[in-house]
Amino acid sequence: MTPPQELREAPAVRGEFRCHELAAWAADLGVVAGITSRGADFGLSSTEPTNAVLDRWRRFRMAMRPGFGTAIVGHQCHGTTLATHQTPGSGWRVEDDIDGHLTSQPGLLLGVTVADCVPVYLAQETGPWIGLLHAGWRGIAAGIVERGISRLCELGACVPSDVVIHCGVSICGSCYEVGSEVYEAVNGESALGQRQLDLRALVAGRARQSGVRRATVTTWCTAHDHGTFYSHRRSGGTDGRMVAYLGRPSP
Ligand SMILES: [Zn+2]
Repeated sequence: MTPPQELREAPAVRGEFRCHELAAWAADLGVVAGITSRGADFGLSSTEPTNAVLDRWRRFRMAMRPGFGTAIVGHQCHGTTLATHQTPGSGWRVEDDIDGHLTSQPGLLLGVTVADCVPVYLAQETGPWIGLLHAGWRGIAAGIVERGISRLCELGACVPSDVVIHCGVSICGSCYEVGSEVYEAVNGESALGQRQLDLRALVAGRARQSGVRRATVTTWCTAHDHGTFYSHRRSGGTDGRMVAYLGRPSP
């Protein structure tokens, strides 16, 4: 299988927050697809005082207005449960045990928090449905990618070849060494000792096996580009979390 096409997020500014966004997705699909940077921790389980985290989220939501009245995020559990959000409104919605979000409504900003795991952006090529998944090795092994694609197709009444996917800022294959049990869990083949695991190539490969024709991967690596992004692995577990976001702004 030929390697997936690369697509790099470009620097962008949202209020006080340094971000990186996909210019091609804005131009071709009319959506905002991006991720925040090191320096602003959006983790919901951090040891920071709650008011500091809540205030940062509030400032981020304000920075995304007026296009987005509502931001949605989940307490993620490396599972495959997806939520569909269609109710407009304003504010911040946090759902329990959700690793993927879908909507067809403008004005709703979907979010997943990451620091090495892959934020997987999905969109109908011609249609209103979009989705955003949090995909680490557990979620990938459990089938979150396939599940996200089939749910999007069901909701959007389309086929996988009408879906575009991007594997966003995450850890690259050469920076992510895993034990044989993890390698086996995601690849379904036995391995000995430590192995390198390329999560985004895995996501793109699974997407293409599901029938997706346009799957791209970022060239950023959270560990290589540690000055710009948070990396759980590179920091030995002490880093914060970025928020990856996807939404179609309200007119
Ligand atoms: Zn790397």
